[in-house]
Amino acid sequence: MIESLKGKVNSVETLAQLRTEIDQISLEILHLLNKRAEVAKKIGEVKSQAGTTNKFDPVREQQLLLWLVEQNEGPLNDETVIQIFKEIFKVALSIQEQDQENKLLVTRNETTPDTIVQIGEVIFGGETPVMIAGPCAIESEQQVRLVAKELVKQGVHVMRGGAYKPRTSPYDFQGLGLDGLKMFYRIAKEYDLVVVTEIMDELSLQEALPYLDIVQIGTRNMQNFSLLKAAGQQEKPVLLKRGMSATVEEWMYAAEYIMAQGNKQVILCERGIRTYENATRNTLDISAVPLMKQKTHLPIFVDVTHAAGRKDIMLPLAKAAIAAGANGIMIEVHPLPSTALSDAQQQLDFDEFGQFMLNIENVLKQ
Ligand code: PEP
Ligand code: MN
Repeated sequence: MIESLKGKVNSVETLAQLRTEIDQISLEILHLLNKRAEVAKKIGEVKSQAGTTNKFDPVREQQLLLWLVEQNEGPLNDETVIQIFKEIFKVALSIQEQDQENKLLVTRNETTPDTIVQIGEVIFGGETPVMIAGPCAIESEQQVRLVAKELVKQGVHVMRGGAYKPRTSPYDFQGLGLDGLKMFYRIAKEYDLVVVTEIMDELSLQEALPYLDIVQIGTRNMQNFSLLKAAGQQEKPVLLKRGMSATVEEWMYAAEYIMAQGNKQVILCERGIRTYENATRNTLDISAVPLMKQKTHLPIFVDVTHAAGRKDIMLPLAKAAIAAGANGIMIEVHPLPSTALSDAQQQLDFDEFGQFMLNIENVLKQ
């Protein structure tokens, strides 16, 4: 009886001792892991200085794993060693990548204030959300004038309209080009409206610049790096739409391309991404709004027209966008949508637009 009690006491003591030992070893591993992370960080910095943006080096990882396996004296088996070190490598890589992301111009950090883009009286990225509205494409003088009048009536100060249209088929209406843009700009200025228009290539950017206030880069060109660079080398603000198949990270890097050239006036615009869902034209990724707010200091807009591709859910989508923190909404409006030369099904007519504005007004003012 006494013997078995003694045995119990002994095993409790041994267990306590072993636990102290294992705690100590865990602490040493922790110190070593942190020490390793510090060195990994330094390696990342050296790579960045050398201009290497891709931090992942599979050949080096493979060599290191083989070497560790060679050194392994057990009792851990080789597979376990590989498994553990692969996890450690993953952490080191994410530290290096996070470090790189923290240094980007687009990245939000404690010292960068929110980017505000101001054109005349209109403030993009301020307290009050802004509406950008107008036809899909510029079609005629009469069309532009009717829409401009309607926008003024509804208290909207920013007009959109494509003169260079990126169409899926080369046989579809391609836009009125420079002449159409000149006409759009002239009329919009009569109504004191800010002009947003899409530019598809560097050549048209140069000719179009005097006739626009904001350069729009469309979803299909989000990774047209030479266009991004050219947009970064001029001074007018750029509205950068999200590529329809681009991740949030790729979109951030696209904005970085513009900013790295010197132009810090970038506005982001979520316009829906491609998914398996076909009840809508694209799937509005609402989560991109708070994510981009968190990751960057740039204003973010939501284009509900191209996201939904249908009129009946544009209002709730716009409300959701504002609730998620969007700085404004883009929407297409046409005097007679059924006759529109592009996006005929999804542009609002003036009655629908009036209704939309009536319902969104309170949300914009909050
Ligand atoms: C547009 O806004 O006219 C347009 C073509 O949009 P997206 O690039 O988002 O398709
Ligand atoms: Mn359109």
